[in-house]
Amino acid sequence: MDLFEYQGKQYFARYGIPVSPGGEAETVDEAVRVAEEIGYPVVVKAQVRVGGRGKAGGIKLADNADEVRTHAGNILGMDIKGHVVRKLWVECSSDIAKEYYVSFTLDRSNKVYLGMLSKEGGVEIEEVAVSNPDAIFKISIDPTIGLDAATAQKWVADAGIDEGAREQAAALILKLYTCYVEGDCDLAEINPLIWTTDNIVRALDAKVTLDVNASYRHPEWEVWSATDTEDEREAMAKERGLNYIGLTGSVGIIANGAGLAMSTLDVVNQVGGTAANFLDIGGGANADVMAAALEVINADPAVRSIFVNIFGGITRVDEVAKGVIEALRRVDIASPIVLRLDGTNAEEGRALLKDHLNDSLVAEPTMLDGARRAVAMANAREEGN
Ligand code: GDP
Ligand code: MG
Repeated sequence: MDLFEYQGKQYFARYGIPVSPGGEAETVDEAVRVAEEIGYPVVVKAQVRVGGRGKAGGIKLADNADEVRTHAGNILGMDIKGHVVRKLWVECSSDIAKEYYVSFTLDRSNKVYLGMLSKEGGVEIEEVAVSNPDAIFKISIDPTIGLDAATAQKWVADAGIDEGAREQAAALILKLYTCYVEGDCDLAEINPLIWTTDNIVRALDAKVTLDVNASYRHPEWEVWSATDTEDEREAMAKERGLNYIGLTGSVGIIANGAGLAMSTLDVVNQVGGTAANFLDIGGGANADVMAAALEVINADPAVRSIFVNIFGGITRVDEVAKGVIEALRRVDIASPIVLRLDGTNAEEGRALLKDHLNDSLVAEPTMLDGARRAVAMANAREEGN
């Protein structure tokens, strides 16, 4: 789960990482209210999950209420790389002496944590990596050993962080490391990490990706799940506990297992169709799960046909068949459904479904046949419109 900057800063604060005081705003008036509370000058910051907001005009300094009004008005609703700004973060402005970069992430191939530190922060790190790769100081951290104070101090010195900022920077970096590990982040990045003219080192930006596999030990993440997705279909699927990703095509897809769902997408493409979504219902394909899956796909107006592709392993096909029948009783589905059911108890499953098959609920013997039929049905309905 990717956090907005303001959420990332809230998370940082839990681990004692210094950030600027500020507040959230969804309207111009709220922005002014926050600014009046924290005192001028302030910086008005677009909250979108994409970098380069500064360059896009989504970050503006303001010395008074009029300026906050102007900037907040301009930034709210702004489109930054396809992300529409719905929220602002207004914080006390900082007088910047230096901008650094620091991050922790996972180096999967070497099975270590990767720390990156640079005295050339502020700009996107990808640019530094291209134009001046020597300016990025990387360290590998063995997760079983961790990062100690001495290593952090040597690291900031090696990276050429200004002498006056080193002690605070090393302390902050240790806290960021704790946040990364104990806070179960996939990525914890500060760009820029600033050294102010009044000699404070703090996080001016926050880019945090949480590892949702660890959600069960972080009840505090709950408040952020609601803002996790901007896609209404994905939000609806999430409420129902489904593993769903919205796409732009016309064939709705339900499969059991991520691998089969991916293959189904490929086969639909192979026969000239396009997928409206990726939906893996996992192992427990009972009536509730099937009804929820059909409901979510049905709510997508772009869907013209639905391809249910199940290969029973531990999941028994007769259970899936019951699920489909029960789901169709509960949900009024607008699109025709193509079923391909194979694997454990496939015979029993097909027998159960036999009497329910009609023009808008058809069965096909193979994945390829199923995909062809679903695409043909989608195309026919497209032409009919
Ligand atoms: P990004 O463009 O999305 O990475 O947004 P950042 O939060 O990193 O801000 C981009 C740039 O805006 C920073 O590198 C700073 O140069 C500038 N900036 C942000 N906040 C302040 C502030 O409080 N004071 C000043 N002077 N500049 C700021
Ligand atoms: Mg930044």
